[in-house]
Amino acid sequence: MENLGGKYNGAMQQRAGRRVVLFPVPLEGHISPMLQLANILYSRGFCITIIHTCFNSPNYSKHTNFTFHSIPDGLLESEASTADIIAFLALLNANCATPFRDCLAKLLSDSSEEPVACMITDAIWHFTQAVADSFKLPRIVLRTSNVSSFLAFGSLLLMQEKGYLPIQESRLEAPWTDHPPLKFKDIPVINTRNPEVFYRVLSDMLKETKVSSGIIWNSLEDLEQSELISFGQDFPIPVFPIGPLHRYFPASSSSLLTQDQSCLSWLNTQARRSVLYASFGSLAAFDGSQFAEIAWGLANSKQPFLWVVRPGLVRGSEWLEALPTGFLEAINGRGHIVTWAPQQEVLAHPATGGFWSHNGWNSTLESICEGVPMICLPNCGDQLVNARYVSHVWKIGIHLENRLERGEIEKAIRRLLLGTEGREMRDRIMDLKEKVHLSLRHGGSSYQALDSLISHISSF
Ligand code: UDP
Repeated sequence: MENLGGKYNGAMQQRAGRRVVLFPVPLEGHISPMLQLANILYSRGFCITIIHTCFNSPNYSKHTNFTFHSIPDGLLESEASTADIIAFLALLNANCATPFRDCLAKLLSDSSEEPVACMITDAIWHFTQAVADSFKLPRIVLRTSNVSSFLAFGSLLLMQEKGYLPIQESRLEAPWTDHPPLKFKDIPVINTRNPEVFYRVLSDMLKETKVSSGIIWNSLEDLEQSELISFGQDFPIPVFPIGPLHRYFPASSSSLLTQDQSCLSWLNTQARRSVLYASFGSLAAFDGSQFAEIAWGLANSKQPFLWVVRPGLVRGSEWLEALPTGFLEAINGRGHIVTWAPQQEVLAHPATGGFWSHNGWNSTLESICEGVPMICLPNCGDQLVNARYVSHVWKIGIHLENRLERGEIEKAIRRLLLGTEGREMRDRIMDLKEKVHLSLRHGGSSYQALDSLISHISSF
């Protein structure tokens, strides 16, 4: 874990009295990186105010150094569901505009508070750019995913404008020549009731990022150098690739769900690098038959596994009712199932040998940081791009290529945990892990980007 503590005292004097207002999108994969960024800025001497929605409110008691302001998000109980993530995000952008503006106006007019230097809002909160402009306050964007998928979203929009979407079934395996080595099937589409809303949310996100006062990436130059150059050609704004954000402070405590610590004592009983950790993040969902294939793939591999089955992972089931008959007998104690794990600690545990992931960007980055090779099962959006980079660019994972079938799963697990191929992937990911580690040390790329970010905010 990197240590920023030494910077604290000098920084405090230098920047005493400047406040930064942050506004996270209330989803697991977005709220944690924003709170991690808040911790980093606090350690560099800024006062921190977090504006947040009532939905998925952060736990104040875990962040006693920050000031929190809650705004009404107007979500009805029936709407506070993330099953259609695009409809959900569009609704939140519409509902939060006025409450956010009112909250900010109050903050800015409160003379007992430190003056606000700037606001930092998630790229998805596109309406906040107009609010920032109206108060003549600089807005810096936090993009919690990576540069390659952001570029792919831009190209997706161009293809949509030219009428090239959707891609014919027969062409899905063909290379997407704008983005080697992506294939057409990796175009980061997100299924939604109304695709027009998806294109509008994307287009607003890109447009408002372009006119912002800068962008912070939870990524790093050593992973995405050429992608950062391409981004700079289209987006003439200051860029701060300071990631991975979760490496600045000990395992983040900002998880919205309660992490079951029993995983760690169970891992303690397992052999070194023997366990497959399977987890598909906070949003992915499967139907009963897909879930059964996953279960039998895990069982038939005959390898120990730790499996996160989140309530909601199986559509129409509360929790484990959809496990196939005979599964528990077949695994004979070789598996441990929990509702939510302390993922970073699990990945760092010596018994963990592989990670079967949906390739959300946080999970992918956390796996790289712990040197754990992956099996890739992306579901939608940026996960499709991340999975292709993991398997075909960095070569640190096996892509399932949508073959959610027990025999394919069993083979992939055995290749990863037992084969030469798996060992070679582990060697490559250990090299990447080292690169990431160096980027955060004095003089490294993320370290320098963070210094530039601090100067940038101080200049407002
Ligand atoms: N996570 C966790 N426990 C789990 C599964 C996931 O704490 O059992 C955390 C994980 O460490 C990561 C986040 O949830 O930081 C998931 O973010 P990601 O971007 O990977 O996926 P998303 O949930 O946004 O699809």
